[in-house]
Amino acid sequence: MNERFIGIVLKQSDYRENGALVTVLCREYGKLCLSAAGVRKMTSRNAAGILLYTKDEFQIDYNETRTMFRLKTAVPKALFRRMHENLTASSAAAVMAEAADMLSPEQDLLLCQRFYDLLENAFELLEAGHNPNAVLAAVLSDMLIAAGMGPEVDECVLCEKKNAAAISAADGGFLCLDCAKKQGIPAVSAEELHRFRLIVKAGMQNLDVIEPIAAAELKDVSILVDFLVLHAGVRMRSFSFYKRVFRIETGH
Ligand SMILES: [Zn+2]
Repeated sequence: MNERFIGIVLKQSDYRENGALVTVLCREYGKLCLSAAGVRKMTSRNAAGILLYTKDEFQIDYNETRTMFRLKTAVPKALFRRMHENLTASSAAAVMAEAADMLSPEQDLLLCQRFYDLLENAFELLEAGHNPNAVLAAVLSDMLIAAGMGPEVDECVLCEKKNAAAISAADGGFLCLDCAKKQGIPAVSAEELHRFRLIVKAGMQNLDVIEPIAAAELKDVSILVDFLVLHAGVRMRSFSFYKRVFRIETGH
């Protein structure tokens, strides 16, 4: 009774009169759906605690046979103000949250905990002012690896030859020139291969290594989103908005 836990708000939709359904990722219970009555009223005390992409303390009566819970209280713990004030950072956060939501299986607590840690770390990096595009590339790569769908970047994913020439999200990673021709995938420059490999190998742990080279390049993030769409069946609706914002902000 009256369990309290810290969670991150991944998704929110209107529910009944003045209410909302809130999807929360947390370390204790994994991914939960909370019904929050009256939170769309101006006078609601819980309104600030269910804002998208914030970290909050929630109170519910947990029962492991259920998947939806009535929210009792929600108190903000980290609003990530700086992240929300920056349009590129906040739209990157939306892409991360959508990926975490789609990849977190309700019945796998360990995997949910891993995605919670990755998402919290990514939001903290955005809040600290790190480049949103580099953080996005790093966290998407880390999430794919956590979900067992990490890109193969050491050899051709089809024939295991070492000399890579192209990247194929559909095939799962690098392709050699022969396999790329067979699959109809265009070859890319050595620089692009090197950059993509570095992002996958470094991840968020080594953001300082990839930040200088991944900051201004949308291609890596696009390929990683393709991985999610093709291998996890995720729709990634938030990505088209991110692309528009990125192009406006960078003039690409
Ligand atoms: Zn090959």
